[in-house]
Amino acid sequence: MKDDSNKNKLADDLSWEGLFEMAENYYDESIQFDDIDFYEYSGKEDAVYNSPKEALKAVFGYDSFRAGQEEIINAIMEGRDALSVMPTGAGKSLCYQVPAMLLSGITLVISPLISLMQDQVKALNEAGVSAAFINSSLSERAMNVTFKKASQGMYKIIYVAPERLMSENFISLAKFVKISMVTVDEAHCISQWGQDFRPSYMDIVKFVNLLDERPIISAFTATATKNVREDIICSLGLINPYFLVTGFDRENLFFKVEKPVNKDKYIFDYIEKHGKDSGIIYCATRKNVDSLYTILKDRGISVAKYHAGMSIEERKQMQDDFVFDYKSIAIATNAFGMGIDKSNVRFVIHYNMPSSMENYYQEAGRAGRDGLDSECILLFSPQDIMINRFLLEHKELRDIDPIDIETIRERDIKRLLVMEKYCYTTECLRNYILKYFGETPKKPCEDCGNCLHQFETVDMTNEAKKIINCIYEARGRYGKNIIMDTVLGAKTARLEEIGASRYKSFGVLDSSNKNLLRRLIEQMLLEGYILTGEYQVLKLGDIGNLKNPDTKVLVKITDEDKVNERIVKVKKNVKGMEALTSSGFKLFGKLKELRLKIAREENMPPYIIFNDKTLIDMCVKLPTVKSEMLNVSGVGENKYSKYGERFLAVIKEYAKE
Ligand code: ADP
Ligand code: MG
Repeated sequence: MKDDSNKNKLADDLSWEGLFEMAENYYDESIQFDDIDFYEYSGKEDAVYNSPKEALKAVFGYDSFRAGQEEIINAIMEGRDALSVMPTGAGKSLCYQVPAMLLSGITLVISPLISLMQDQVKALNEAGVSAAFINSSLSERAMNVTFKKASQGMYKIIYVAPERLMSENFISLAKFVKISMVTVDEAHCISQWGQDFRPSYMDIVKFVNLLDERPIISAFTATATKNVREDIICSLGLINPYFLVTGFDRENLFFKVEKPVNKDKYIFDYIEKHGKDSGIIYCATRKNVDSLYTILKDRGISVAKYHAGMSIEERKQMQDDFVFDYKSIAIATNAFGMGIDKSNVRFVIHYNMPSSMENYYQEAGRAGRDGLDSECILLFSPQDIMINRFLLEHKELRDIDPIDIETIRERDIKRLLVMEKYCYTTECLRNYILKYFGETPKKPCEDCGNCLHQFETVDMTNEAKKIINCIYEARGRYGKNIIMDTVLGAKTARLEEIGASRYKSFGVLDSSNKNLLRRLIEQMLLEGYILTGEYQVLKLGDIGNLKNPDTKVLVKITDEDKVNERIVKVKKNVKGMEALTSSGFKLFGKLKELRLKIAREENMPPYIIFNDKTLIDMCVKLPTVKSEMLNVSGVGENKYSKYGERFLAVIKEYAKE
């Protein structure tokens, strides 16, 4: 019910049209280009290279490999399958392109995005490598030419969309030529645990099994979670793969979360301060893109915009303006950026919170590819959460099993929660990201918005001990909310029901507030004093240290943590549904049924008979005789004589049960 009202509120704010536009935008990434150049084969014989290093220098003009590249390349050259997890911008493409130059046959690269293939093939062609792509963007003529040349062995690298693999002509081509390696780029698309599951990635194994000779299989992704990694190895049937994960830290990126009242003004001021720096501003909706574009343009700032609602020509023009530095700033939806390799992007600002850390790190990671200091700033407002929830609920999942859809939705929600926490945490932001991607950083980076922010640090050692007592009394059966409500001394029926209102620790921190206690619990989790068990229940961890009088539990708090105090206290006094136990809630339902029945008989609005508050009070007081019923707030003699008996009957019936 709550969700619905949120949705309606959101709808009021934005209009349905706006919402559907947003939902559409969400799929911007899958836009297809139907009018693209066809790159002609260069006609030259491919050069022969003696070593990876030689190819690196000759083809790409680089002197040395970056971290991890050489290991992966060597493993592939030894004929081994490989799986490599490297962050965006680390240089994954080279890891398969260099071996492709050296292997005798063709390398097939399976890639999810047409724009990405287009860019890579263009770059390879420019570097003098014969490469082509096969996907739905090619005209029939171009497709025929490509197939013909491919069958004549004229390409070293062929990029192909996963949907093409099982087509008849592709299979006959694949059987006719020698395929040395199949490379799966963005390999997380094969995993339902990944953020952009692509069912057609499942065809890859089927395709490989059709080949007479098994090629080397190499897979690349920036998604590091364990589930995804295992899925890739398993679903692609990798055999004893060489596995490499490089660190996810991008030291030159500075992370920060801001909560400005006026985002447009924030951005304008930021740009004023940063001169002609090149940057990308990501917005969740096309509408945001358009309006921010107009605002900045009117103020004489050199901006380009990009979203899937624009024509292909417009998009191409804007993209070129940005890539070639005619315009210093690009305002865009998430359709923008894949395959764009502009290295001097000095800042990436997110106008809205993205839906997952994977997406955020990928988009923010487009800053500072050249290794120079760059900033990644997320502008957060609570409405971003509602927008994202809406988008997830309306995410279209075609060709997917209903059971899988459940799994995917659950994953999506979890990912969104991780992103939300990023916006609220006072922890080191870099560490927060790295931990999510499975690393265990040792200490705060001292170089992110949170590390540099002067948070007020408060000593909450005493409060921590009280929380521990409460968890002890609760015997590790309840989650954060019950524990907080208990120490705050909240008068809820739920606490009555489970007996927590009789704990010694009930109300021991009644002058505190939920935000502060939430921060404290997070800190205690971080320091291992408490742990979370199944269903997020809180359990005691290693509390030995706290017995030492010198040990302090220091909690970093923001001004908001204090501001909310008042709101929480006011809320605490509201008497309502929270006065009901779970069985009281059932009775409430029955009384409402009766009320509705009477209302229909009398042709009256139900609330005139008794309002909700009265019914709730009946559930709390459970009157069985007239005098008790008259004690219920809202029941007078007159009403009693009209309806009292009937309500008493229902209550008695319930009490018997
Ligand atoms: P990823 O796919 O991992 O996100 P890319 O393969 O697109 O990253 O590479 C990102 C950028 O790094 C590209 O501009 C690429 O040319 C550059 N790059 C890759 N390897 C090297 C290297 N060894 N030396 C210099 N630049 C490199
Ligand atoms: Mg890549």
